[in-house]
Amino acid sequence: MQKVRGFYDLIGEEAEKYRFISDAARGVLNLYNFEEIILPVVEFRELFERSVGEATDIVQKEMFSFEDRKGRKLVLRPEGTASAVRAFIENKLYAQRPYVKLFYEGPMFRYERPQAGRRRQFHQIGAEVFGEERPHADAELIKTAYDVLNRLGVKTTLEINSLGCKEDRKAYAEALRTYLKEKESELCPDCLRRKERNPLRVLDCKNESCKQATRDAPLITDYLCTDCREHYETVKNYLKALGVPFVENPRLVRGLDYYTRTVFEFTSDELGLTVCAGGRYDHLVEELGGPPTPALGFALGVERLMQLVKLPEKEKDVYFVVPFGDKEVFTYALKVADALRREGKRVELSYRKGGLKKQLEFADRMGYRYAVIVGEDELKEGLVTLKDLKTGEQRKVKVI
Ligand code: ATP
Ligand code: MG
Repeated sequence: MQKVRGFYDLIGEEAEKYRFISDAARGVLNLYNFEEIILPVVEFRELFERSVGEATDIVQKEMFSFEDRKGRKLVLRPEGTASAVRAFIENKLYAQRPYVKLFYEGPMFRYERPQAGRRRQFHQIGAEVFGEERPHADAELIKTAYDVLNRLGVKTTLEINSLGCKEDRKAYAEALRTYLKEKESELCPDCLRRKERNPLRVLDCKNESCKQATRDAPLITDYLCTDCREHYETVKNYLKALGVPFVENPRLVRGLDYYTRTVFEFTSDELGLTVCAGGRYDHLVEELGGPPTPALGFALGVERLMQLVKLPEKEKDVYFVVPFGDKEVFTYALKVADALRREGKRVELSYRKGGLKKQLEFADRMGYRYAVIVGEDELKEGLVTLKDLKTGEQRKVKVI
């Protein structure tokens, strides 16, 4: 039996890295007083068509889509924001408080070509803020992601941009369409289609020729209205005040349609890939049937971060309990292990067979700090032999 292409087992150190990243993110999110929401992995296909956007790569090509026995169109979720918004509306969270801050964690699924940094199942940790339109929320959210990345010791460049409001986008899309008309011969077939339905998508194309073709394209930042410009300037000023370094990238559009105003990406120079991305989506709640609610969020890509983090030294020494003898000795060893654990020690009762030499070699190879040897003599004396495998020192001690 084999695993499915693009899906992975996270074993040993990889699982530890996953947990390390999750714990660090949760630690920071807790300081910012976010609450966890645990969301389903399967949603109706329509949720993503209406939020992420029909013309996006995610919806057009990347969804794991299937029908259930009743013919309902379902998908394995490709991202978390749409689900969080659905849950926010469905559970009327807006009725409970003037604003809501949620975070989620879990697997996402996209039918992409598997390659470095691109899997079909990957994990995201995301944060969403509902109910605040003012720019201090943008700055604080970006700072939250920045704090997580710093806690992980991951070096990134933060790029930011503003996509303006609906009206700005409309005017800009028109200008971009006009510009792209002249460049048709250089665009990939996908972008020729995108150009009509959603020209901003062309700026996000990873195809070299399309990148070249859009080099001198008009910039969204030249199409911002006074309010959007003011919002963007204020976000930048707050970031400066918080000491968060950033660069402006007026071509940054993100791969999802729901964004308005602030968008941002943290990119690792070492990987050449984005490890965290997000932005504002002030109309999405309303578009999905909720009350008008400004909102914003980000998602961290856990697997990409796993490539960058270094695990800290294991915080605890392992006690390796080795019984030699009959069932009575094993009963004693089980109780010794139990007593040590009750003292808060990390204990491994040996399941390895063989003599003392083999046991100690194994303990050494596994990096265990102490051997706790339990034999007939120890049982009779009510003691154990504690051997420090680092120093070689050995003495009899009482555990129970
Ligand atoms: P990219 O431009 O790299 O395709 P994206 O815009 O599709 O990224 P988002 O939807 O914003 O990415 O997801 C947020 C983060 O999730 C990304 O920055 C990345 O770290 C991670 N991510 C996205 N797709 C994948 C994938 N297929 N495999 C692993 N991680 C991914
Ligand atoms: Mg993508």
